Amino acid sequence: MFDFDVIIAGGGPGGSSTANFLRQKKRSVLVLERARFPRFHIGESMLPFSNDIWRELGVFEKMNERYIHKPGAKFIHEESGAEFTYYFDSAISPGRPYAFQVKRAEFDQMLLEHAESLGAEVRQESKVERVDFNPDGVIVHVSAGDKKYSVTAPMFVDATGRDAMMGVERNLKEPDGMVTTNAAVHCMYQNIDRSTGADEGNILIGLFNGGWWWLIPFNDGDTSVGMVFEKNFTKINRGASSKEMMDKALEGLPHLKHLMRDAVPVLPVGAQGNWSYRCKQFYGDRMLMVGDAAAFVDPLFSTGVLFAIHGAKFAAEHIDRALTSGNFAAAEFANYQTQCQSGMDLFKGLVHEFYSESLRNVLMASAVNPTMCAVITSLLAGDVYRPALWQGVVRKKGFSQLIDMKSIPGVKSSRQTKAPAAPQK
Ligand SMILES: Cc1cc2nc3c(=O)[nH]c(=O)nc-3n(C[C@H](O)[C@H](O)[C@H](O)COP(=O)(O)OP(=O)(O)OC[C@H]3O[C@@H](n4cnc5c(N)ncnc54)[C@H](O)[C@@H]3O)c2cc1C
Repeated sequence: MFDFDVIIAGGGPGGSSTANFLRQKKRSVLVLERARFPRFHIGESMLPFSNDIWRELGVFEKMNERYIHKPGAKFIHEESGAEFTYYFDSAISPGRPYAFQVKRAEFDQMLLEHAESLGAEVRQESKVERVDFNPDGVIVHVSAGDKKYSVTAPMFVDATGRDAMMGVERNLKEPDGMVTTNAAVHCMYQNIDRSTGADEGNILIGLFNGGWWWLIPFNDGDTSVGMVFEKNFTKINRGASSKEMMDKALEGLPHLKHLMRDAVPVLPVGAQGNWSYRCKQFYGDRMLMVGDAAAFVDPLFSTGVLFAIHGAKFAAEHIDRALTSGNFAAAEFANYQTQCQSGMDLFKGLVHEFYSESLRNVLMASAVNPTMCAVITSLLAGDVYRPALWQGVVRKKGFSQLIDMKSIPGVKSSRQTKAPAAPQK
């Protein structure tokens, strides 16, 4: 009766992982991707608690061989020069001592090809133009070059990233008013003065009045550098090019300027905007939104892909159940949103405290409070989905309150004082 069980718009990590999980459940899947891969994409730093999902998707071993290991996150305060590194092997739940730094062009292609190897049909340069939701199924209208055609399925997944196709069409997107940044500029360089030895793969995050910056190292010697600006900076510099904004900001960032003193760009400077929003509803009749199409918390803690692939897993479970029962009513998917939001909300709280200033001090003050350090490390590692005592305490008290606490029951105080063993390449 239908061409496929499920049609997915978007072949990023959200779309390809949903396809992968559905193929593991023997469902027939079509992925329609507007671009031709490999294509550049922002979002290169992964989190350790994604490793469990990479294993379930069957790509962990490949990633382990291919990508530089990220054993921690180093925070640098530009104004004071203070530094602090959170090492993931100090997280409350052990066993995930590193994550990966990936160039998304080839990484997203690897994930999509892997889903294809499991039997998903992938059509690139195929844009979903419109979806008709009928009581007995969906009709997806596609344009591929000069060709226009339609395909049918009982179920549609919107994984179109920050384009948020269904969220925009149904007017469901709500911006997060407590986030004070709204633009990022970024570029890829050779010859950045990077950390060496065991710390080589760490992400560096610089905090400054007016925003923050990231530095993400890759195996091939390239380094991604980006700056995220407060709305005020973006407003004052309206009309300036991305490169002009980057150059201007760099003048006030002595630490980053020093690291970039011999930098040679290998890509043009790019820009991103339109983040920190959530759709009021992540689902509808015969439809689920996965990844950025549903919500985007903030780039600050590198959580986007973690949310997208966990959402993909939850989505595949719901869709599989609906395909078995034949019930595709929106109400059947309500718990999907609850599952996704349980992880997002912890980070949302963290992000709000960061932008209201208090967390910036806490991030740098962790050194004096081992309990605080263990909690922050666990959050930075992405341990946000499993219900646990420490998460309950964080949800109730807020992060900044933790600094005065001696200990949280059940949380082992363990502050990392030296770098873990050298990561393998
Ligand atoms: C400044 C910044 C920094 C970030 N840094 C990080 C980081 O360090 N770590 C991290 O994990 N995340 C980071 N992110 C977030 C990360 O980029 C996203 O969360 C992640 O890519 C989400 O995956 P996705 O599959 O939902 O969407 P995407 O990766 O955006 O994939 C969506 C796909 O859908 C396709 N598409 C769109 N419309 C259509 C259509 N109509 N038809 C067919 N295809 C379509 C697009 O071509 C695209 O390939 C960052 C984001 C920003 C803005």
